[in-house]
Amino acid sequence: MAKTETLTFSQSVNHMVERAFKVLDLDQGTANALRSCNSVLQVRFPVKIKGKIEVFTGWRAVHSTHRLPAKGGIRFAPYANQDEVEALAALMTYKCAIVDVPFGGSKGALMIDPRNYDRDEMEKITRRFTLELVRKGFLSPSTNVPAPDMGTGQREMAWIADTYKHLHPEDINYLACVTGKPVHHGGIRGRTEATGRGVQYVLQEFFRHPDDVQRAGMDGNLDNKTIIIQGLGNVGYYASKFLSEEDHARIICVIERDGFVYNDKGINIENLHQYIIENHTVKGYPDAKFDADGKKALELECDILIPAALEAQITIENADKIKARLIAEAANGPITAQADEILIKKGTTILPDAYVNAGGVTVSYFEWIRNLSHIRFGRMQKRHDEMRNTQYISMLEEITGTSISEKTRIKLKHGANEIDIVRSGLDDTMRQAYQEIRELLLTNDKITDYRTASYVLAVDKIARSYIDIGLY
Ligand code: NAD
Repeated sequence: MAKTETLTFSQSVNHMVERAFKVLDLDQGTANALRSCNSVLQVRFPVKIKGKIEVFTGWRAVHSTHRLPAKGGIRFAPYANQDEVEALAALMTYKCAIVDVPFGGSKGALMIDPRNYDRDEMEKITRRFTLELVRKGFLSPSTNVPAPDMGTGQREMAWIADTYKHLHPEDINYLACVTGKPVHHGGIRGRTEATGRGVQYVLQEFFRHPDDVQRAGMDGNLDNKTIIIQGLGNVGYYASKFLSEEDHARIICVIERDGFVYNDKGINIENLHQYIIENHTVKGYPDAKFDADGKKALELECDILIPAALEAQITIENADKIKARLIAEAANGPITAQADEILIKKGTTILPDAYVNAGGVTVSYFEWIRNLSHIRFGRMQKRHDEMRNTQYISMLEEITGTSISEKTRIKLKHGANEIDIVRSGLDDTMRQAYQEIRELLLTNDKITDYRTASYVLAVDKIARSYIDIGLY
């Protein structure tokens, strides 16, 4: 008989957080506050599409407002449901705390398959959904700030910002009501690729610690490590592109919605991505073998498995067949609580979602600050830094009596622009969080896995802020 999962997504998240409550010996009041969402809005609204009225259902859940605004993406997906939105909102609370981003946790979803609607229809539906969220107090720069997630991107965020602006023309900070906007519409350079870039920084930091790598049954660095990635959307595409192009990891398998492609010599991610854009499938990609059974590929031999698509992909049905030594959860909730226990017993190292995919919200935080300060990062210092660097170069040449090559001169002179500052801030954030998680894992003998360590780090910070502001 097939084994079945007994927990919903939100129960699964809570089940795993419970391990942290135990380690911290958290009082029941605070634990209860964290087990449930603070508020959940459900909206049903009609939109006229091709002359016919269609009714859409959407949600926005706020898990915690210990910090404001509450932050979290909006996903457009045909299978969206309230339990999923509540689970994702809770993950946002923990995620923000892990990477020290001063936000509460929220998440939204609209039950829709965007592939069934054209651009103008999507704009109409997104603007109408935004109207509902704003009217009900679930969207504003100071209380609740969405971002992209599955099925949404820059385009939808621009429509959301513009709709909010029309409803609140007096709000000088209107651009900060949503993050992940296009750069020419108040967005920040580096946000689109931030989550994938964050996944890369997490793995780079993991491989800077030889003891951690050894405990996971590997050695060396990312060079030539074999990777299987599930989902070549926003997160999966950038993560696998950067890991293969910059760290020389070998992406041997890409799993998409219609099957997987495999090549043990490595897949060129840019070529495959282009192929998907043109053909809307991975089937037929010339440089790899295709198989329609996508889920089977999760069980193939590899060093690192990166689920970057949907939740509940590794369950009690396939957990004991997973061969990867390390799993980096780029998606939210790809491993169920019951599967997590099986994998831990098996000795698989898991870097958890609430930490691994926090790059998106980190750069969203930078974008929010940029919108509130009304100035691009680097604008005030860049030329000043370049002038000072030029003086240093001249001094160095004078002292040494040798002249520096033009290539080196350009490098040394360079003053940081926005993308440099964003990348440096993101890298520092992901490294810092890893070191805090690692410290807990190594020093607290009640903690034996990265997920529990991450949640202990988060819950401890949130509980302290509950006590400080006196929520009871
Ligand atoms: P996306 O919509 O851009 O990409 C999802 C990809 O998964 C698509 O390529 C899709 O074809 C593929 N896919 C769908 N069903 C699949 C299946 N059954 N098997 C394999 N692939 C399948 O979404 P995204 O923004 O990349 O988000 C992916 C995950 O990362 C989600 O769990 C999301 O919550 C999480 N996440 C995203 C961000 C962000 O900034 N976009 C931030 C944090 C976490």
